[in-house]
Amino acid sequence: MIHFDNSYARLPEGFFARVKPTPVAEPRLLALNEPLAARLGLDAEWLRGPEGLAMLAGNGLPEGAEPIAQAYAGHQFGGFVPQLGDGRAVLLGEVVAPDGARFDIQLKGSGPTPFSRRGDGRAWLGPVLREYLVSEFMAAMGVPTTRALAAVATGETVWREDGLPGAVLTRVAASHIRVGTFQYFAVRGQQDALAALTDHVIARHYPQANGPLSFLDGVVARQAETIAHWMALGFIHGVMNTDNMAVSGETIDYGPCAFMDGYHPDTVFSSIDHAGRYAWAQQPQIAVWNLAQLATCLIPLMGEREAAIEAATRAVHGFAPLYQAAWLRRFGEKLGLAGAGAEMQQMIEELLTIMARQRADFTRVFAGLADGSAAAEFDDPAPFAAWEKTWRTRDPDPALMAHANPRRIPRNHRIEEAIAAGVAGDMAPFQRLFAAVTHPRELHEDWADLALAPREEQIVRRTFC
Ligand code: AMP
Ligand code: MG
Ligand code: MG
Repeated sequence: MIHFDNSYARLPEGFFARVKPTPVAEPRLLALNEPLAARLGLDAEWLRGPEGLAMLAGNGLPEGAEPIAQAYAGHQFGGFVPQLGDGRAVLLGEVVAPDGARFDIQLKGSGPTPFSRRGDGRAWLGPVLREYLVSEFMAAMGVPTTRALAAVATGETVWREDGLPGAVLTRVAASHIRVGTFQYFAVRGQQDALAALTDHVIARHYPQANGPLSFLDGVVARQAETIAHWMALGFIHGVMNTDNMAVSGETIDYGPCAFMDGYHPDTVFSSIDHAGRYAWAQQPQIAVWNLAQLATCLIPLMGEREAAIEAATRAVHGFAPLYQAAWLRRFGEKLGLAGAGAEMQQMIEELLTIMARQRADFTRVFAGLADGSAAAEFDDPAPFAAWEKTWRTRDPDPALMAHANPRRIPRNHRIEEAIAAGVAGDMAPFQRLFAAVTHPRELHEDWADLALAPREEQIVRRTFC
């Protein structure tokens, strides 16, 4: 039993298409996130039972659900597409948790919708398990993110290059409203819809905001925090299209995303990102580019045009100082240093330069600072040793470092292993990796192997969606 309260489905008809999930042949629960169910006020036993499983598979709708596919547009790799929309996802509805927080419950891979274009509306097991692992690791590290409630095998084959086992992910989000949702109405010149959407997101995500400009300021501030957090974990989203940027500030749409092993700022994993538009170091400026698209959409709602353009531009430019401060704070904490300032910035940049030259393992270097094991990550330890000596004189705080630096991340090669085992019917490696990356800071002998960097032959250089 779920109590739904579907505020988005109460918006005007043009915001979405009403569509039911397409039932699957043989649903089987692969993973259920019980702590998240509890957080939402959902009964895990019910979710595991016949009605719950039917809901999670798209085979049955619980009372109160109002399934819709949301309309949105988006810039994909910089090129504008006026209509995208949920092509393989259905929003079942919204639940209000015991603490009053509102969450979307969305099925991903639940069959075709009016927005599917040529797609089949389905997902295969690989991306479902990757999103499950990565989004829950991000949540464990405190990064604003959508969550994974469940993964269900469909018992059907999904055709990509090969036949692959199908799966459905149940995704939980503050909302699925994107920069591209605004673009959808802006490009159609639908000012009333834009105004209604803006009112909706202000009420839902920015209750303190007093209009479109202060809403924009809010999105800029939250994205600055989110992107700085990504950077501090070596996370590369992979597809920062405007339809994949949530206005809530949450990380959304985990596709060919990955964490760096060896550090280099130009690192790209996504098989479709040929030009490196969404490389690790590009992410802050791409965020600005996306926020500028949101600002452009909002200008018509901001009164006198010249003044509105000026104010919107200023709001977007607000990203740089906020991001810079967040970056400095996050990387400072990684080094165990609380203050800010030019000296600390230089110390961080020096370390990153030394790491990049040797492609030292990003996670292991930072995790190894506290106990002196970081030097082992460098083929030539001399430059690092010199840096470390100076750093020690600043009296770093081990508690700050222990909190900021995960010991274990969902590394590409481990995710691929878990997916391969899952395809073969063995979910044990997935369960083990999930436990290890959702307790990322704990020292744990049983998970020691999951903290290792890949050996040369284990390195995964490309990810696919
Ligand atoms: P993404 O790159 O996952 O953010 O997806 C971009 C757009 O393509 C969105 O409108 C998706 O709904 C749509 N899409 C991706 N994969 C599929 C699929 N298998 N079937 C239908 N639509 C899809
Ligand atoms: Mg998307
Ligand atoms: Mg190395």
